[in-house]
Amino acid sequence: MSDSYRSGGNTNGKGTGRVPANILRRRMRVVVTGGAGFVGSHLVDKLIARGDDVIVIDNFFTGRRENVMHHFGNPRFELIRHDVVEPILLEVDQIYHLACPASPVHYKYNPVKTIKTNVMGTLNMLGLAKRINAKFLLTSTSEVYGDPLEHPQKETYWGHVNPIGVRSCYDEGKRTAETLSMDYHRGAGVEVRIARIFNTYGPRMCLDDGRVVSNFVAQAIRKQPLTVYGDGKQTRSFQYVSDLVDGLVALMEGEHIGPFNLGNPGEFTMLELAQVRQSFMLFADPLCLNHSLPAMSELPIIFLTLMQVVKETIDSSATIEFKPNTADDPHKRKPDISKAMELLNWEPKVSLREGLPRMVTDFRNRILNEDEGKGK
Ligand code: NAD
Ligand code: UDP
Ligand code: UDP
Repeated sequence: MSDSYRSGGNTNGKGTGRVPANILRRRMRVVVTGGAGFVGSHLVDKLIARGDDVIVIDNFFTGRRENVMHHFGNPRFELIRHDVVEPILLEVDQIYHLACPASPVHYKYNPVKTIKTNVMGTLNMLGLAKRINAKFLLTSTSEVYGDPLEHPQKETYWGHVNPIGVRSCYDEGKRTAETLSMDYHRGAGVEVRIARIFNTYGPRMCLDDGRVVSNFVAQAIRKQPLTVYGDGKQTRSFQYVSDLVDGLVALMEGEHIGPFNLGNPGEFTMLELAQVRQSFMLFADPLCLNHSLPAMSELPIIFLTLMQVVKETIDSSATIEFKPNTADDPHKRKPDISKAMELLNWEPKVSLREGLPRMVTDFRNRILNEDEGKGK
């Protein structure tokens, strides 16, 4: 089903009769479930660019044809509207299994469908991998750690998850998906890989998916206040999508099953911390609509930096509005990525300051199109 080719369009060796061993690789047929979504579409771009044949399976619940439209007409690209909850027959070398809504707003919308997608969808893709002897990569999540009691989280931590909460359809669903992957590996010899992805952002995120980065960017562009949920003291780390995609490919191509944390721990120096806090003291008045200055200065550095970059990039007069938090919101989350650094030779490269401006143009264009569609 596959033939040989030189990756990356590299012409080294031409005329010399020699091709360096490291640029010879098999041309792959790859399935990306959820490939019309945010992360999936960036992964598809990378696989197509390196010369693979890519089949996207998507039911378009949160994905969009626009995310992959630039590949239409390419004979190496195929898009199939299909729900992974139903079986499917295909012949491929690798399966990247991403199909599942990722934003809390989307996965809570129809929780039973979310758990069916995670359990039955993953079962079907593992059954497919078993039948055709394909390599299988599961995109699991940092949510398997629940509201963690260990910080930062290592892969050895078993988590602290509410099995009956409103997030359980997603986090327990992904935990079951990890279990299924390991059982197909141990029981049927399927070559599996497990990535535990931490909060990721970038172009092509859904405009209104309710996640904090997409919300802040869309709100600043629409001249609305940035909404901070709860007391805003919860922490997260934010990874740029190209770093994640590099990590997923390194994991699939490597020898280790995982699980591997893929996220950006986003360390800040004390100087950066002082500078960002200082600038918020200066901006304090327009920002603090409902809260006092000390509360503002106590917000975690990651939230402050996010707001600071949004202000610098989009709207310097952006204000903040505090809103009630959602149930079971994890208090803190930050990956320990030493395992991925050591075994996959991977680490994130793009900082929030570099990454965030890259999604602004995409968001601006889509918001503009939306407004024009509404006759604004
Ligand atoms: P997304 O919602 O943009 O993409 C998910 C894609 O899966 C969409 O195209 C959607 O239409 C498709 N899909 C959903 N249910 C399906 C079904 N039953 N059958 C076929 N297709 C289906 O989300 P994303 O941010 O691109 O996330 C991709 C994967 O990464 C998900 O598995 C998610 O759990 C995981 N993940 C993402 C993040 C993040 O911060 N983005 C964090 C942790 C884990
Ligand atoms: N499956 C699939 N495509 C395939 C092979 C299997 O969708 O090419 C589905 C199959 O329908 C089943 C699931 O994967 O629901 C698990 O398959 P497996 O063969 O492991 O289990 P069994 O069919 O024996 O229950
Ligand atoms: N959050 C926020 N304002 C928003 C959206 C989210 O303060 O407009 C908070 C949310 O309560 C959570 C954090 O930001 O503590 C990250 O939320 P997100 O939905 O982006 O990802 P999660 O980590 O919950 O999957």
